Amino acid sequence: MFDPVEKLKEYVRHASVSADPQFKAHMAGAQQFLADLLKGIGFAVELVPTALHPVLVAKRGDNPAWPHVIIYGHYDVQPPDPLDQWKTPPFEATIKGERIYGRGTADNKGPLLVHITAVARLLEKNPNLPLRLTFVVEGEEEIGSKNFKAFLKENKEKLRGDFIYMSDNGILSPDQMIITVGLRGMLAFEIELTGPGSDLHSGMHGGVLMNPLQALAELCASLHTPDGRVNLPGFYDAVIEPQPWEREQLAKVGLKEKEYATFLGIKEFHTPPGYTPFEAIRFLPTLEFNGFSGGYQGEGTKTVIPRTARVKITCRLVPNQTPANMKEAIFNSIRARCPKGVTLTIKEQHGATPYVVIPPDRSNTPKDQSPALAKCFRAVDKAATEVFGKPPIYLREGGSVGLLADLKEVLGLDAVMMGLFLPEDNLHAPNESFHLGVMKRGIETSERVLAALAKG
Ligand SMILES: [Zn+2]
Repeated sequence: MFDPVEKLKEYVRHASVSADPQFKAHMAGAQQFLADLLKGIGFAVELVPTALHPVLVAKRGDNPAWPHVIIYGHYDVQPPDPLDQWKTPPFEATIKGERIYGRGTADNKGPLLVHITAVARLLEKNPNLPLRLTFVVEGEEEIGSKNFKAFLKENKEKLRGDFIYMSDNGILSPDQMIITVGLRGMLAFEIELTGPGSDLHSGMHGGVLMNPLQALAELCASLHTPDGRVNLPGFYDAVIEPQPWEREQLAKVGLKEKEYATFLGIKEFHTPPGYTPFEAIRFLPTLEFNGFSGGYQGEGTKTVIPRTARVKITCRLVPNQTPANMKEAIFNSIRARCPKGVTLTIKEQHGATPYVVIPPDRSNTPKDQSPALAKCFRAVDKAATEVFGKPPIYLREGGSVGLLADLKEVLGLDAVMMGLFLPEDNLHAPNESFHLGVMKRGIETSERVLAALAKG
């Protein structure tokens, strides 16, 4: 039986940065590492090509009477930049105290190894374990999983499982398991307002035409109410109110508003009425300005009326909003509000559908749930309670992971997301690390979960 920490060190050495073609050989190295590891514990491994980086599919067990768990993970990592801010080499995993430092240790190499190790231990004890397992490990998560949906469609037959089991989500302290049961979606777009045929002298022409920057400021100012709600007709119509149990679960985490404000460096919150800041992040949609541009941005002054002004906007969406059912309403309202004298163009960018899965014992319609999914939720609840000493907390999160909606749409499968990384693990940042205590407890939990899922 291998040592999971030593394996993690080996895995991190393959600098599998998906964003940069220079790292292509390392992407292949990471694929080979995983293929060898999984073959070594009895899996049949296949690298399925996509338009960019292949997806690794590894299977064991072929008895159709056995339950079938699909375990998702990704082998790619974020670029290590800025390199000068790393205290240890990003691709030489280094243990300091109770943490292992290195790019990908927490996102997602460590958490994936947690599940591979759990499987290896179970198979060592019982090589005939009555459980079908399929690992699906993609190489483009950090660049938006653009080819993943097409991969799912083309390989649907191979991926006929009972549910998805995965750990690419977070917890808030090392001794409390959190199961993520929802993520917000996304609608990103850019607005451009064009006025005169070219930039103009503000003395020779100022005062006779609508300045595109002024028009943009007026337009943007109209998009929220003073109390922080999005001021677009119908914006909240599809939003599902959080259930009382969701608010209770969130309250159990014991988050402190004052500490959060200090962390953000703000004097006061600007949260829509009826929601705490922690609820607003999880249960409400938003419309955020990500960048304004137009006119002169350099030192000193320039007396110019710019020809164009631009703003980048992202909306976070919540169930049952989708980019498809929201965008026309949002875009039409914006068009209708555009001040006279400028021409408006909207450029749609990426989108993601929000995702939610209700744990079986909280559902109002438990009969609609797949028994296999319910069994997995209960197994995770029991195992996490035994290993962590207290029951897990079920939370929706504010971020967006579009592939969950893709898995649901293409394969019809829901996901049980067992959190394993901590806020201080520095994902995507210098000095990324993974908590070794969480890794150990994660392996124990996952081993119990998978043992409980095997046909018995
Ligand atoms: Zn990840």
